[in-house]
Amino acid sequence: EAFNANVAAANELNAFIVATPEKALEAADKVDADRAAGKELGKMAGVPIGMKDLFATRGVQTSAASHILEGFSPEYESSVSQKLWDAGAGMLGKLNLDQFAMGSSNETSYFGNVISPWRSKGSNAPLAPGGSSGGSSAAIAARLCPAATGTDTGGSIRQPAAFTGICGIKPTYGRCSRWGIVAFASSLDQAGPMARSVEDCAIMLEAMAGFDPKDSTSLDLPVPNWSELLDADLKGKKIGIPHEYRMEGTDEEILASWDQGIAWLKDAGAEVVDISLPHTKYALPAYYIVAPAEASSNLARYDGVRYGLRELPEGANLQDMYAATRAAGFGDEVKRRILIGTYVLSAGFYDAYYTQAMKVRTLIARDFEKAWAQCDLVLAPTTPTASFPLGDKLDDPLAMYLNDVFSVPASLAGLPAMSVPAGVNKDGLPLGLQLIGRAFEEQEVLNAGLAIQ
Ligand code: GLN
Repeated sequence: EAFNANVAAANELNAFIVATPEKALEAADKVDADRAAGKELGKMAGVPIGMKDLFATRGVQTSAASHILEGFSPEYESSVSQKLWDAGAGMLGKLNLDQFAMGSSNETSYFGNVISPWRSKGSNAPLAPGGSSGGSSAAIAARLCPAATGTDTGGSIRQPAAFTGICGIKPTYGRCSRWGIVAFASSLDQAGPMARSVEDCAIMLEAMAGFDPKDSTSLDLPVPNWSELLDADLKGKKIGIPHEYRMEGTDEEILASWDQGIAWLKDAGAEVVDISLPHTKYALPAYYIVAPAEASSNLARYDGVRYGLRELPEGANLQDMYAATRAAGFGDEVKRRILIGTYVLSAGFYDAYYTQAMKVRTLIARDFEKAWAQCDLVLAPTTPTASFPLGDKLDDPLAMYLNDVFSVPASLAGLPAMSVPAGVNKDGLPLGLQLIGRAFEEQEVLNAGLAIQ
């Protein structure tokens, strides 16, 4: 009830698109009943959470923050959200996000910007909560919910976590089922938890992860008891520091927080080694080819026939209806991605762009493979700057894309990566540090995260 009241009172943050107070209370009642009946309680028993509005929720609007899906109420539940309900969690509501998860500031939502609860010292300018999981990050930072789901295609869990001083982990690609999550770039999309602590993320990830026959890329591996095995003693662990991440344009304060993170990990017993990830500078351009290419294909299903919006101008034929629906239903950033995606996949340019980007993707994955001969984990900043004022990068897509420079390599390689809070900058704004691990080694990532947090 307290969380429901906070959600209702914090309207100005615009973190929620839909509130479902009755669902949260229903889950709480069920936990009471189960406890009274002596039944074993799930890992998330009675925890009220926010659900990013990219997860299909039966009978509750699932919009991907777009006009084209406005009013769409699925007949089915995503596998990950179902697992959370089965573990006893309750839904406070559906969280705002960048439209179709495309963006880094939560300014592309059809339902308006999400506003970060943080403010810079001496300025009242509203700040970006990060994106695309900006509703999730803002809601957790403002204490509207103790935890929320996120999805991460190129950084959408980690970057908003860093901007708002919370934790978020993108597990190994395939850990969490993609079934019932609105698809952006299927070879990159991964769900994960966002919460205030590493421990909370570990518990929630246990509830979210696991094999799902309905997702052909789901990993058929047991889900470890990450939360019980948490251990901040890093003796015998080697942490790699990739010198290619010392990029031009990275704020001094970000570099200082990175040095601080190195010191913390050494204090926890780790050995720190310099490593090289030589293809890092090609990761961002490769990502912004591969992700739009897959998006343009995934978004072809929104045709005015199967879901949500239908625009049918007077005397329109089928083709006109498609065009009118998509013109009205998609926002500018989504259209930009479709244009880039169809261009790089077109017969004349496929080899020059898409094939090249896929080769680069392999090289990035190999960079990490080689690095694992020298270290167990990589430590790097999550973002090149702290949060920025809303509107600052809105007219400059390239500046916005550059925000993802540190997060996309782990996405392209499918590796587990976490952002943990690492202090504040001179303006009092949170900074995040990123830990990247070997495939399936979420435990190592969480352990090092614990040592930093
Ligand atoms: N900011 C990146 C993009 O716009 C990543 C988004 C995401 O991870 N969903 O594509």
